[in-house]
Amino acid sequence: MRVGLFGGSFDPIHVGHLLAASESADRLALDRVEFVTAARPPHKRPVAPAECRHEMVVLATVSDPRFFASRLELDYAGPSFTVDTLRRAKKRWPEAELFFITGADAYRDVATWKEPEALFSLATMVAVSRPGYDLTRLDPFFRRRVVLLEIPGYEVSSTEVRRRIAAGHSIRYLVPREVEVYIEKHRLYRVRDQA
Ligand code: ATP
Ligand code: MG
Repeated sequence: MRVGLFGGSFDPIHVGHLLAASESADRLALDRVEFVTAARPPHKRPVAPAECRHEMVVLATVSDPRFFASRLELDYAGPSFTVDTLRRAKKRWPEAELFFITGADAYRDVATWKEPEALFSLATMVAVSRPGYDLTRLDPFFRRRVVLLEIPGYEVSSTEVRRRIAAGHSIRYLVPREVEVYIEKHRLYRVRDQA
């Protein structure tokens, strides 16, 4: 089995995430993609509570048979380091080949991640292209090891989605309809200085 782990804060999940996961599944012949919601990302502070972010991931992934919303980081205390997540994934799917998927921007500071070299022995590290970011400035040690997937560019970010909500603008077509309704229902991201 080939298992993709797509990590993010998903604050909120948007169509850029879904396209990145779908393209990765297709191009790497993955049997499943687990969307791993970061509980406490070490480098940033999410706006919405972890359980809300996870529920939005559930809503966004429920209709795609390849996609699963994972609690691999939510159910553990302490900060979410990728290397720990991969070790847990290895225990859960001992026979599987693991692929860790993120956008190209995530690798800018890969050298500062916890146990960077161990990451590459646990999983194939995959970077999907993202408008405005390239991997050419990455340390050659990592650049040689990261698999780059060129995908159609969707210039959308969670930051932009939050900004639009705070400014009273539409987020239609930037997030799945169910996620849009969830955000309205729970009145998330309305305060401007949270964006
Ligand atoms: P924020 O603006 O809050 O940082 P984000 O849109 O970058 O949100 P994250 O949850 O930080 O979303 O991203 C999770 C993963 O998805 C990251 O690896 C990121 O690079 C990738 N990603 C996010 N948006 C896109 C996109 N439009 N195209 C390709 N990859 C993306
Ligand atoms: Mg981001």
